[in-house]
Amino acid sequence: MSIFTKIITGEIPSYKVAENDDFIAFLDINPNAKGHTLVVPKKEENKIFDLSKEEYRSLMDFSYRVAKALEKTVLCKRIGMSVIGLEVPHVHVHLIPINAMADMQFQQKVKFTNEEFVSLAKSISGNFE
Ligand code: 5GP
Repeated sequence: MSIFTKIITGEIPSYKVAENDDFIAFLDINPNAKGHTLVVPKKEENKIFDLSKEEYRSLMDFSYRVAKALEKTVLCKRIGMSVIGLEVPHVHVHLIPINAMADMQFQQKVKFTNEEFVSLAKSISGNFE
């Protein structure tokens, strides 16, 4: 069972920003930038291109809605999107509010307190449509 499945089942806590029957979005615990969010299919699949085309399109539709909420919440030049999965073998889309290329490089990390994560997740969630 992946660590993200444990988040989905509630075994491990997360700062949730959006959820429906098929997907969940929560803040990355070690963010590149403020608002760095992961969008995850509840069905545990390792690689994104092993999803069916329909599942892939649904994941992109859900990610689009999360990105819109991020744009409304976090001041940034744009939302960057990346799919890697080398650390956690459970499909996830990184949505990252970016101001510079360095924000997409997974090297510079930013720290937030529990209270800051809670408040940010609540704000993004409030802008999710
Ligand atoms: P990737 O698999 O795409 O290389 O990276 C996995 C991402 O998941 C990383 O950005 C890492 O910070 C994040 N991550 C790993 N474990 C957890 C966790 O338990 N909770 C949350 N919210 N994010 C995690």
